[in-house]
Formats: sequence, C-alpha cells, structure tokens
Amino acid sequence: MYIDTHSHIYAEEFDNDRDETVRRAFEADVRYIILPDIDRTTRQSMLALAGQYPDNLFPLLGVHPTSVNASYKEEMKAFEKLLGQTTIYGIGECGIDLYWDKTYYKEQIVVFERQLHIAREMDLPVVIHSRESLPEIFAVLKKQHYNMKGILHCFPGNEEDARRAIDLGFRLGIGGVVTFKKSSMAEVVGKIETEHLVLETDAPYLAPVPFRGKRNESSYIPCIAAKIAEIRGVDTKKIQEITTNNAMNLFNLHSKSVDNKF
Ligand SMILES: [Zn+2]
Repeated sequence: MYIDTHSHIYAEEFDNDRDETVRRAFEADVRYIILPDIDRTTRQSMLALAGQYPDNLFPLLGVHPTSVNASYKEEMKAFEKLLGQTTIYGIGECGIDLYWDKTYYKEQIVVFERQLHIAREMDLPVVIHSRESLPEIFAVLKKQHYNMKGILHCFPGNEEDARRAIDLGFRLGIGGVVTFKKSSMAEVVGKIETEHLVLETDAPYLAPVPFRGKRNESSYIPCIAAKIAEIRGVDTKKIQEITTNNAMNLFNLHSKSVDNKF
C-alpha cells in the first residue's frame, strides 16, 4: 500500500471526476491520502470530501502562505475556530512563499509561527510549504526550542539542506519533480536514506513523467516510487514499504484499518 502525503483532490480541477480519481488511486494501491488545507475558500470542500472517505482520506487544517494577505487575521480566526471541532491529522500546509508575492512577508512569518505553535500544543505533525524561502523557513524553525515533526513538502533544497531538515525532525516530501530531467530532488534522493522520505503528488500540480504537464493525481504515486527505486538501485517494493511506514508513523495512522471496499 502507498500513501500520498499531499494531495488537493478537493480542488475544483477535480469537480467533474473526483470519485473516479479516488477510485483510480485505490486501484493503484494508494489507499491513504493526506489532504493539506489551503484557506477558507477551499476548506469546506476538503472537509466534505474527507467526510465521504473517513477511512482513507485524512484532512489537515492550516493557512497556506499564498493565502496570507491584508485579511490574514480573519483567515486565522476561521482556521482556529475549527480546531478541536473536527478530526484532523496535522497542521498545514503552512510556511513561506516568496516566489508569488513578497508583499506580506512579515505576515507570512507571523501566520507560520502561529501554526507551528498550534502544532506543538496539539502534538500534531506540520506540513511546510517552502518556495524561494528555504533560508527563511530554517530561520523560523531554528527559533523553535522543542522537538518538531512534519514534512518539508516538495523538498526544494540540496543534501546539506536535507540533513538540516532531518535534524530538525522533518521528513522530505518527494513528488513528481524527482522524475524531471536535471532535478535537484533526484540528487537529494540519491544521497538521503529512504527512512527520511515520504511520497506526495501535490495534485493537481507537478505530475510526474510520463504525465508531466497534465493534471496530477494520487494514482501516479507508484511512478514516483519507481523513480526513487531506480535512483537508489533498490526494489520499488522496498521504497513503498519504507515510505508508507514513515507516513503511517508521522500521521499516526496505525489505528486505521485499510478500507479495501472499492
Ligand atoms: Zn499543497
């Protein structure tokens, strides 16, 4: 069994075939899918979908850094109001994004730090989004004086960054980018032990080869595992076992029994 640790299949890109997409994932042996939150505009559809598949789809709550703007306080209020009211498996995705817009950089840090604090209080893993912002992310994480756990999603760094993230308590989220030519993610995967990796699609974005450029979905997870296996010179089965176990431990999914009805 595989786990997709990062998928936005509740997004409007899947409005016409969401159930078929979930079914295709199950048929590809991707039985568990983690749903990272974005903001108020998508949260209801995420929670509704998770409610439809409570044994297989697991939601997080959080505020994405690209959703931090002048009304960030209301955004945070809406997010925090739901904490404790609904079953969640982690906090996120949160972080810093300096690629799309730097206008609210300071606010992004405030919102990120607040979510790290909540994750600590609730003893939940945190899923971190980083784009053009790895040094800034590390600066924030270094200020946290407790044992963190979570994922640096779509890991954007080199081997040294990877070691740093692992030392801070994080797993590296490896997705479709690993299959692209000249990908630094492929280099990292060649050097970092599989015990520190988890698989993710980031659907609908970043589809792996041979689907590059198309809409991404969880059923493509085995392509990512196969590529990691090729890079590391081991069996895909081995990659599957280790990354699934990593994700099970991180999101505390051992008490779930895999639902085979599909
Ligand atoms: Zn995402």
